[in-house]
Amino acid sequence: MGDCIFCKIAQGEIPTEFLYEDDNVVAFKDLYPQAPIHVLIVPKAHYQNFAQCDDSDVLLSMNKAVCALAKKFDLEDKGYRLIMNTGEDAGQTVMHLHMHLLAGKNLGEQLI
Ligand code: 5GP
Ligand code: ZN
Repeated sequence: MGDCIFCKIAQGEIPTEFLYEDDNVVAFKDLYPQAPIHVLIVPKAHYQNFAQCDDSDVLLSMNKAVCALAKKFDLEDKGYRLIMNTGEDAGQTVMHLHMHLLAGKNLGEQLI
């Protein structure tokens, strides 16, 4: 996946501050934040989208990343929104599985 931007970030080819990292995933700030806190949780391995990922270790790591980020940003009481755009109609623009974590204000009906 030579030209995949999230492969390059997740594999450390593009210097990026990771807000969470384990063996399977990294998390970093979205380049164009849509909320005061807008973090992307991204597997180190390339999967096109959620449906393409059947690795339970990766999926569990995404869950752990969410919990760690919620704690790090003190969101456990206030809450946050998780979004996984999948395919064209959802507006997925980066074809490497990622989860958006949005928080830091009342998000209302904001979809992303
Ligand atoms: P999607 O629309 O595919 O669900 O979300 C892709 C997200 O990746 C967008 O919110 C966009 O701002 C973000 N993004 C695209 N390129 C980069 C990049 O090079 N670095 C970072 N940190 N975020 C990016
Ligand atoms: Zn990739």
